[in-house]
Amino acid sequence: MSRPQSAPARQAAARRVRPAEAIAAEPLERASLRGFLRQLAARGELRHIQAEVDPRFELGAYLWQLARGPAVLFERVRGSDVPVVGNLLNSRERFGLALGVPWRDVYGRTLQALEQPIAPELVSQAPCQEVDHAVDLRRLPVPTWFEHESGAYITAGVIVAKDPHSGRRNVSIARVQVRGARSAFIGIAPNHHLSVFARRAAALGRKLEVAVTIGQHPAVVLASNLYVRPGDDEFDNAGALLGRPVSLVRCRSIDVEVPADSELVLEGTLDPATLLQEGPVSEFHGLYQRYSGGPEVTFSAITSRRTPILQVITPSLQPEHLLIGAVGIAATAGQAVLSALPESNAHVVITEASGGRLHAVVQLRNPAPGDPRKAMFAIWGHVNLVKLVTVVNDDVDPYDPAAVEYALATRFRAERDVVIVPRVRGDRADPLVTDGLVTKMALDATRKAEDREDWRAARPPQAVLDLVADHLRSL
Ligand code: MN
Repeated sequence: MSRPQSAPARQAAARRVRPAEAIAAEPLERASLRGFLRQLAARGELRHIQAEVDPRFELGAYLWQLARGPAVLFERVRGSDVPVVGNLLNSRERFGLALGVPWRDVYGRTLQALEQPIAPELVSQAPCQEVDHAVDLRRLPVPTWFEHESGAYITAGVIVAKDPHSGRRNVSIARVQVRGARSAFIGIAPNHHLSVFARRAAALGRKLEVAVTIGQHPAVVLASNLYVRPGDDEFDNAGALLGRPVSLVRCRSIDVEVPADSELVLEGTLDPATLLQEGPVSEFHGLYQRYSGGPEVTFSAITSRRTPILQVITPSLQPEHLLIGAVGIAATAGQAVLSALPESNAHVVITEASGGRLHAVVQLRNPAPGDPRKAMFAIWGHVNLVKLVTVVNDDVDPYDPAAVEYALATRFRAERDVVIVPRVRGDRADPLVTDGLVTKMALDATRKAEDREDWRAARPPQAVLDLVADHLRSL
């Protein structure tokens, strides 16, 4: 896809670097996509597909069939010389690997990144600007995912823009559908910060400069999905997740800064006055949604690393898509509960089976009467998406659906412990929202003092269990 007159592009063409070589050459300390791919490769969790695949349905079908398997790198995608990688963050363990913590500590690590942000640093030389390309989106291997969608979507585009009022940055992921050589549709909900910025630009009679960056370290992907306040720069949280500042570089044609280690950067301008129709599009709940359209972005420059890799996130009800949302929402919802109940040691889990968005389990330490209800209201107040909240004690593993069901079976009285709040603001992506409204429900499955005097579990003494476990190991 390189422009013939660009000297770096000529060099790249002269010596095609295999993706495996490029990944192996990446310094592990870089906060980059390929640094993470190198980690995965070392663990045997990166599978290379060398056969040519069709970006229309076939590439997505591979990722679908390998949804919970290794990350997959497609070396040859029809119609493009750019390889594609997907299925990176398709388990909680992969989030732990990326952040350098056991997977159960991802929640606490993300909470800490919200509380103690680290600002990014500006650099002047960046891998993501090694090559200048002719602006032609059709030369990128952008997949067409599902049978009834209307086109090809960039699904891992981390979009950077600046608030026309304050100049503060926003970093978020939205779907970007290729419409022409330089033109794309962008799917943003009215409550997304990027939409807010677009409306502010429109009110000033201006367009909004945006950079769609592709190929990011998981810390940047996760940070872009945090439900922080408008004006909060998600790069500050990404830096905290990494433990050091994210390196940013100024774009070539617009006044926006992007991660220096991005694989590809598409620089463009969003026109808030445009409204392009979309047609059916998959959502996290696995069904098609029909939205009222969205604005057009026109691109003015494309830069990349010397041998860029296009990252994708399989949309719909697929593990990576679910978990990126679930891990992000859990952390900011947890922050909201901890603000309401500072002594609760609250641990919030957003379940995968709810599309990674709609159902929360909240674990509380020694809740006083009324505390579980405070936790419910804190979560509903924080995020429109979450409908069902189940509250459990700290002896229940919130990640284990069977443990949560057991708590319901033994600690929950329906006539006392159900809370139903009709007609609350919902999210337009919810499959059951009508007129913007949905009913919220919560189940308090914590122990209550009035129910039983004796909550002890019937089991052998712990000392004997430990002894027998030792015996079994020695056999
Ligand atoms: Mn934001």
